[in-house]
Amino acid sequence: MPKSDHASEEQGVAALRAALFVHRRAPLSRLLARRGLGPYRGYGELLEAIERLADRGAQLSLIGRSIRGEPLLAVHLGASSQAAARRDGHAAGRPALGAQGGRGVANGVSLRGALDGSGAPGGADDPAPSDAALALLDDRADRASPHGQRPSTGAGPRERGRTTVILSGIHPLEWIGIETHLALLERLATQDLGGRSILAVPIVNPDGLLRVEMNLRAGRHRYVRGNARGVDLNRNFDAGWYERGLVQRLIGLVFSPGSRPASEPEVEAIAHALSSRRIDRALSLHSAGGAVLYPPAHSLWPVADAAEHRAFALRVARAADRRPYRAMSYVRFAWGVRKAGLEIDWLHDRHGALSLLVACSRGKLGLRPSRLVEPFAWHNPRRLDDATPPLVDALLPFVKGARN
Ligand SMILES: [Zn+2]
Repeated sequence: MPKSDHASEEQGVAALRAALFVHRRAPLSRLLARRGLGPYRGYGELLEAIERLADRGAQLSLIGRSIRGEPLLAVHLGASSQAAARRDGHAAGRPALGAQGGRGVANGVSLRGALDGSGAPGGADDPAPSDAALALLDDRADRASPHGQRPSTGAGPRERGRTTVILSGIHPLEWIGIETHLALLERLATQDLGGRSILAVPIVNPDGLLRVEMNLRAGRHRYVRGNARGVDLNRNFDAGWYERGLVQRLIGLVFSPGSRPASEPEVEAIAHALSSRRIDRALSLHSAGGAVLYPPAHSLWPVADAAEHRAFALRVARAADRRPYRAMSYVRFAWGVRKAGLEIDWLHDRHGALSLLVACSRGKLGLRPSRLVEPFAWHNPRRLDDATPPLVDALLPFVKGARN
């Protein structure tokens, strides 16, 4: 195999090691545990955990760089992970090599119109699903037919060529999502995925996470929601972006959606890494709220495959905790307020994936004043061991492609 075929794998590992060299610090987990905030790991410790996954056979690729130049790392698991890591890394090599602000590179259907320079609302940006998305929807309809009884054991030969996408760390304060994600990947790394690929980006917003870590180390109680430019990355995906109502516009003053869909390098990198994939499952881990949410967020109308989404959401919700999580569409969860630019809408509308957003844990604060004034505690339970293992068990069948 030519040496260049390994370029992006090497890029992924090299970028991780370079970041580790810069960010290796005294463990944050001990400091936080002492302050009653739970044993959460800081950025350097999380990178070490990703490095251990690579040591155990996961492939890494560098899919882009954050605004401050932190690596956006994808972890690939499954039969085709080596090829996938090469392909995704190759395809996305440009933001890494193009350095800061590698803008203006046309990169696939999902950014059509967004990068044509017009940036005009309702312009050339056609949110129609791709052919791959339509094929997946057809295939799922076949499976739902009464003639097609399928076993519900998960991975099998039919999984070949399918990809599950897992995201976390989009919102900088929601660290339990990242911990749950890494625990899920550790489990998946030991399992036969039957031809299915996992493409996971555990830290979508490293700049935001580092800012939170800096605040925690300094004892500052700050609320952080966006990336280094203050853009809420979960309003920046190309989904219903121009359908913003009045409330959305007002909210937009607080939760900035960015200047156009995928204006932020973190979102652009994900869109690009996924552009040639056949994605049928997608999971995004947030916190808190104890809910399993599915599309739509940007529309009041149910999605065509709402029943299938609801069935999976209910299954995860029941298994997630002794007292089940809630399961509903995002727009219902948000009291009927439409929200544009969410990842689950984009993953569903663009890729045809069954898409779940899990608000991990219930956000119970207790009565300790030190927790009440600390935004980190609003999003992350003190006892990680109580929340994460049942969630991982609840999510495994979904991400492995099990039928419901
Ligand atoms: Zn969130």
